[in-house]
Order: sequence, then C-alpha cells, then structure tokens
Amino acid sequence: MGEKTNLPKNSIMSLQTLDTGFFKLDGGAMFGVVPKPLWHRLNPADEQNRCTWAMRCLLYEQGNRLLVVDTGIGTKQDAKFFGHYDLHGDSTLLSSIRKAGYTETDVTDVLLTHLHFDHVGGAVQRSGDLLAPVFSNATHWVHPEHWQWATNPNPREKASFLKENILPLQESGQLQFLTEHSFPYTDVDLHYVDGHTEKMALPLFRINGRIVAYLADLIPSLAHVPLPYVMSYDVRPLLTMDEKTSLLQRAAAENWILVFEHDPVTEAATVEMTEKGVRLSETGKLTELL
Ligand SMILES: [Zn+2]
Repeated sequence: MGEKTNLPKNSIMSLQTLDTGFFKLDGGAMFGVVPKPLWHRLNPADEQNRCTWAMRCLLYEQGNRLLVVDTGIGTKQDAKFFGHYDLHGDSTLLSSIRKAGYTETDVTDVLLTHLHFDHVGGAVQRSGDLLAPVFSNATHWVHPEHWQWATNPNPREKASFLKENILPLQESGQLQFLTEHSFPYTDVDLHYVDGHTEKMALPLFRINGRIVAYLADLIPSLAHVPLPYVMSYDVRPLLTMDEKTSLLQRAAAENWILVFEHDPVTEAATVEMTEKGVRLSETGKLTELL
C-alpha cells in the first residue's frame, strides 16, 4: 500500500469509473432475439456486424482499502486475438488508475464479477515466461461456485474462460473466495445472479444514502434496459429476464444509480417505472448522477 495521504478524502470521489478501452462484439450475439433494425439504431454495427463496447471498471476507496472492480481485457493476448476483437481506445486499466492518483501497488482488493476474458484479462500480466497478478498487493475475490464453473467450463462458455486469465490468480496465493462475511467492504453488498453465467457478483455501493449498482453483464449497456434485450451469450436467458425485472423494479423504486460496464458512451443512468415497464430516466456520468 502506498502513502495513505494520496487517497482523496471527498466521499463523492470514493467511487469512480475506470476506462480500460473499447472492443467489438457481434451485434446479433449482444442483442439476442431482438431484430437488427431495432438494435442497429441503438448501437450501429460495422461492416462485419460488430458493435463497439466499452470495458468500464470501477475504483472504490473505503478506509485504507482500495478496490478495483473488474479489469477489462488486459494486454497479454497476441495481436490476432486483439485484432479479432478490435481492441482500441486511449485508456488502459493502469493508465486510468494512475490518472485517478494511484498506482497498481495501492490496490488492496480486486472484485471479479465473473471470469469472462473481458472482465478478468487485465488482472494477470505476462512478465517473461511467467504469468502473474498485475496487482501484486491485492486479494482477488471470486465466488467459489463461479470459480468451479469457470475452471471446468461448459462447451458454450469455454472460449470465454481463458486459463491464462484465471489460474495464475490461484497459483499466486492471491485468490480468496467470497463467502457471506468474507468481503471486507462494509458499504458494499454483493448481489448474485445466474442468468449470464453461474454466480455473477454485482456490487451494490451505499453512497450518500443511495445505492450505486454495477451491472456487469446482467444489463451491459443502456440499450439492454428493456426486458427482451438479453445477450445470446447468456447460459440461462429466461432467468436473466427475471433477474433484470426484479433488479430494475428495485432500482426504480429506490432511485438507484446504475453503472453500465459495456455502454460505449453512457456511464450511468437512473430508471423509472412507466406503463410500458421500467424505462430510463436520467443518464450521464456517474459523478453527475451521484
Ligand atoms: Zn460475461
């Protein structure tokens, strides 16, 4: 841990977003059963039918602990892999952490919502022939049932769970499993959902009397707020629809701020209940909505 005096004292600054770059994924896969003429207006596809997505992570300070939530795609894959996903943008996980006034050794904890490569890739780096955690002082938190799921992958998700992103966390001794009371952040509740993948962990931050919810791949972008917009990647899409419904109802009733990991433009939004179901209310940067 670096000098504590570097840490901002303003409570509004205790939670901030970290841009880690953009990548592209097939629009059809991202919008499931929704026809292209509908989703194309929301996130236009390129000539290969790919849409652009952010990989937006979070940085949270509580007391003398510094938490990173998700880590983006990382830097260790080869040019062919990054070319396939058209990785682009000026920011990286580490450049964004530095811009926020910290270095990687300040990070005490990394919460991994789940272990798909665009969420965990930035947690492990290559140095010579070795693979090691980027955050050398951090404990990496994963739900144990998700760990089992990811390390014994089903054929559907196998291409998303890359061994080089996952196993070095355990080999380093810096992996800890989330249990009911193990996560050391008293102002963060963890909400587990199983539609996208087994036991994805969504952190709910209690800040200034409000909840800020990080939605990971449950509702990856603004366009995914309406109920039928469910990704084809999800292993249990009907369950995702139930999980979206109950989370959005709570979010509308309690005026939560929702943070979107993959929205290419908009960081955060609030929602409200309408006759057509839950719809967007305010949108903007997290700091504007807090
Ligand atoms: Zn995912």
